[in-house]
Amino acid sequence: MEKKISEEKNERSLNFLEEIIEKDLRNNINEGRVHTRFPPEPNGYLHIGHAKSICLNFGLGKKYNGKTNLRFDDTNPVKEDVEYVDSIMEDVRWLGFDWEDRLFYASDYFEQLYKYAVILIQKGKAYVCDMSAEEISETRGTPSRPGKESPYRTRSVEENLDLFTRMRAGEFPDGSKVLRAKINMASPNMHMRDPVLYRILHATHHRTGDKWCIYPMYDFAHGQSDSIERITHSICTLEFEVHRTLYDWLIREIGIYAPRQIEFARLNLSYTVMSKRKLLELVQQKKVNGWDDPRMPTICGLRRRGYTPESIRTFADIIGVAKRDNVIDMSLLEFCIREDLNKRSNRIMAILNPVKVIIDNFPEGRVEEMEAVNNPEDETKGKRHVPFSRELFIEREDFMEEPPKKFFRLFPGGEVRLRSAYILKCESVIKDLQKGEISEIHCTYDPETRSGMPQSNRKVKGTLHWVSVNHAVEAEVRLYDRLFSKENPDDAEEGKDFKDYLNPDSLKVCKGYLEPSVKNALPGEKFQFERLGYFIVDKDSTNDHLVFNRTVTLKDSWTRLEKNQ
Ligand code: ATP
Ligand code: MG
Repeated sequence: MEKKISEEKNERSLNFLEEIIEKDLRNNINEGRVHTRFPPEPNGYLHIGHAKSICLNFGLGKKYNGKTNLRFDDTNPVKEDVEYVDSIMEDVRWLGFDWEDRLFYASDYFEQLYKYAVILIQKGKAYVCDMSAEEISETRGTPSRPGKESPYRTRSVEENLDLFTRMRAGEFPDGSKVLRAKINMASPNMHMRDPVLYRILHATHHRTGDKWCIYPMYDFAHGQSDSIERITHSICTLEFEVHRTLYDWLIREIGIYAPRQIEFARLNLSYTVMSKRKLLELVQQKKVNGWDDPRMPTICGLRRRGYTPESIRTFADIIGVAKRDNVIDMSLLEFCIREDLNKRSNRIMAILNPVKVIIDNFPEGRVEEMEAVNNPEDETKGKRHVPFSRELFIEREDFMEEPPKKFFRLFPGGEVRLRSAYILKCESVIKDLQKGEISEIHCTYDPETRSGMPQSNRKVKGTLHWVSVNHAVEAEVRLYDRLFSKENPDDAEEGKDFKDYLNPDSLKVCKGYLEPSVKNALPGEKFQFERLGYFIVDKDSTNDHLVFNRTVTLKDSWTRLEKNQ
């Protein structure tokens, strides 16, 4: 699989966007310039779908020696906030991209956009309409039935100019008037049926304050902003395909530089939801602990979960770009982070569900420092010492009193190797009759089998991880799983909604016993807990109270589950 990824990276043929761009370059369209943009609306935190779009736009800019702008599409003051602006910039940077000096806001163009609207009015291509939002929607018709023309459609240019000026001046209440393009109420494309360009909204904007009380609609701001920035290829998701005719019409009628809009299929990921509205609902209703909850598909959630920018970029790269909607399996994203962390994280030993082992023939009070390899994938990571003593913790699941066949872990009379230490033999067990569970496992060790010594090659089938009881560092360990238990939570049964499919087991908190080398680990540090998965020190962690998040298990348990079902 590793080979496959690198092959796909280096040898894959051009995707359809690259083909379009290379053709334009060959034909010297836009004088050989390539200029893309990433245009988020600051009304929520970015998610993995946006990451795909970021990698795509910045990736194309880089590949063709072009430029990529970051532009906030901030035309709806009611839903937008600087908190979101700041988080978006942080996330784009963290992903590894740089907009250099090209940070823009659609709100910076409000004056220019207003002038464009005036041009349309002067050309008789736009009019002020007094119908309410309901009336406008009722008279739009249906795809098979033409709409009805507004009675205000025939207003004179002078009257329209006067009314539009007064709209801006704040003379009219919200919703009482709009500016509409005058196109064709019978167009088979609903977006061409005199779409609204401006609405009245007496609301404070996070950047322009109270300067404006009319705001451009998305369709009017977006293409015009692309044109102002001389974007060559305006890449957006498929739902905007039906807007493209309007995009081109507005640019042509205003008479300005024409970028080319190209659509690709948005990223959909199984076992999660991606719409900002739904993610906001999860946050507001406290179904998760904030936008950066490690179960969220947000970039900040993935970061806190322990994902690396490299793994997300690799993911974006291997899923490629499609022209048709599809759903990518969450396991692919998990595969990418496993591959990356396998290479970069040091191993440590930690016990999450302990049972005590007492080594009867190991002297009381003696401590041996065992040498352990930090990362078998990377020699330069070196070695560390792990204290070994008479009393150890091992995982409760690694012992069975009556083992089935092929149980290669510990059982009465059986032998296992302790990672980086000795071979251990189980002699007897002590049970807590009240709890009905084993409280101590009594063992002996074979001093001849110290790891690294020549005699240590004696073969036993299983290798277990362990932690010395007296040296163990306690930590809060948060085990995360997928947020939803349904593959497509958006596809809810009648009477239900996506929130009815939240996975009740998506977060389990337990106490872990860790080897002492992690005692001073700082937030953001990543480790592999041998046999248990990849973990990151959480931002809640302090010297007195260590907190770890599990990023991902070592193996894909979901796919195996699905296969067995
Ligand atoms: P959502 O529908 O999740 O609320 P949005 O499309 O409203 O997102 P924007 O802030 O408008 O969010 O998106 C910024 C850019 O990211 C747009 O160019 C949009 O096409 C792109 N984008 C959004 N979601 C995805 C996705 N799932 N896959 C790929 N690109 C996406
Ligand atoms: Mg949008």
